[in-house]
Amino acid sequence: MSMNAQGRPTRAVPSAAAAAPTHTGHRALQLEVALLFDEGDFEGTGVDLPEPAGTASRLGDLAADEAPTLPGLAEPEAMRHYVRLSQKNYAIDMGIFPLGSCTMKHNPRLNEKVARMPGFADIHPLQPQSTVQGALELIAQLAGWLKELTGMPAVAMSPKAGAHGELCGMMAIKAALIARGEAETRTRVLVPESAHGTNPATAVQCGFTVDKLPASTDGRVDIAAFREKLGDDVAGIMVTNPNTCGLFERDIREMADLVHEAGGYFYCDGANFNAIAGKVRPGDLGIDAMHINLHKTFSTPHGGGGPGSGPTVLSEALAPYAPLPFVVEEEGRFRLVEDASEAEDAFGRMTAFHGQMGMFVRALTYMLSHGGDGIARAAEDAVLNANYVLARLSAEMSPAFDGHCMHEALFSDAFLKGTGVGTIDFAKAMIDEGFHPMTMYFPLVVPGAMLIEPTESESKRSLDEFCDSLLALAKDAKSGEAEKFKSAPRLAPRRRLDETQAARRPVLRWQPEAAAAMAAE
Ligand SMILES: *Cc1c(COP(=O)(O)O)cnc(C)c1O
Repeated sequence: MSMNAQGRPTRAVPSAAAAAPTHTGHRALQLEVALLFDEGDFEGTGVDLPEPAGTASRLGDLAADEAPTLPGLAEPEAMRHYVRLSQKNYAIDMGIFPLGSCTMKHNPRLNEKVARMPGFADIHPLQPQSTVQGALELIAQLAGWLKELTGMPAVAMSPKAGAHGELCGMMAIKAALIARGEAETRTRVLVPESAHGTNPATAVQCGFTVDKLPASTDGRVDIAAFREKLGDDVAGIMVTNPNTCGLFERDIREMADLVHEAGGYFYCDGANFNAIAGKVRPGDLGIDAMHINLHKTFSTPHGGGGPGSGPTVLSEALAPYAPLPFVVEEEGRFRLVEDASEAEDAFGRMTAFHGQMGMFVRALTYMLSHGGDGIARAAEDAVLNANYVLARLSAEMSPAFDGHCMHEALFSDAFLKGTGVGTIDFAKAMIDEGFHPMTMYFPLVVPGAMLIEPTESESKRSLDEFCDSLLALAKDAKSGEAEKFKSAPRLAPRRRLDETQAARRPVLRWQPEAAAAMAAE
């Protein structure tokens, strides 16, 4: 058994891995996987090449004395390793992925087909622009759709995730404040306490201080508290709409007017745009900057740190500060503006090249195949599905707020009170039932929060299966079956991990057994 430097095993103990132990640790045709380092051997390689005859090495002193500690595996062995691992993964293509805030929707295969066309897939960002006119036109067209859908005059296409888009928007605000000579005095940014963690992190990264906005009892920004916090040291606000409680901020126009009167800017976190795309234009709400997570609202497979793309729309006031590069059209030709001499107020650049091309292709394919009416319909269906889940689950679970929701349904742990079952136990029991858990303990303003976002692409049958299962689990919890929850998941390839240990003493590297032996002594 291999141990890591901390003396913990690096592969599962077979009999502990399975509820019904087998000699091998495999369970039916679900095969156990060891670490690649434990499977391969360090002397071997996947390919045997003959020693080159009659050629002296030119490496001299630089030649390594020992083989690198990399496992050597033949192609079929390497293939099996990764395919077995992939079968342990859960994916939107296998079932509902109800993670609130993440918008895990079906990714149409058409997007993939178009993204793989050689004219998009096999080009290089340093190719002469005359040879990639189609790709540049695609970026310009997508920018056009984003401006149209948001009612905003400008968009920076290069940010590579939602958080990166936030950074882009806040850097544009900072640049505008510097131009006004107020960067030294306007240092405070107001952020609701229900905000996604990236919002305060971005504000701090840009050198601002964060001032928390309290929520009112109906889960929205407390407008009276908001008024009181405004002042001439306020740089701006960062508000999510619909917010992270899945509710529309009804006072958003008033908030925009108030922050503008106070001399600040309005950053809107657009991660929840899926609920309102084609229905509400953020530009009409008085927003100055908003990122759009192409990988949420406009499909594209994402998750596990996978690819992201966060184009950021900007108002008239912030447009001059948009980062380089951007695409311009001149007499039917497309050109990337790369040089600051052509855009003197640009605050700089966010990425080496021009953004996430593969995702641009997927997003535009999605938009063109849905059309304007289809995008609005998707938003309506997303909201309808969330309200269906909210209504059905309210029979046994505790909605965090009264009334309808937007695209996500939020519950507190009140229904588990006195059962000995916590939010985490409930989530783990869902895994045994075949469902990926919802987002848990977020937003922070709701005790033991469970945030469910079904998205528009789930059928009624799939929503019913999901709801039936959660209702049954809620009943089990209330009828005193706490033990079943505490020991969940029982049927997953791995049982419950020690998350505290994992966070406090993360073991991120495999260590050879020699090192492990030393650590154990
Ligand atoms: C997903 C999300 C973000 C961050 O987006 P990334 O693409 O993951 O960087 C920010 N805010 C909210 C509300 C989100 O849901």
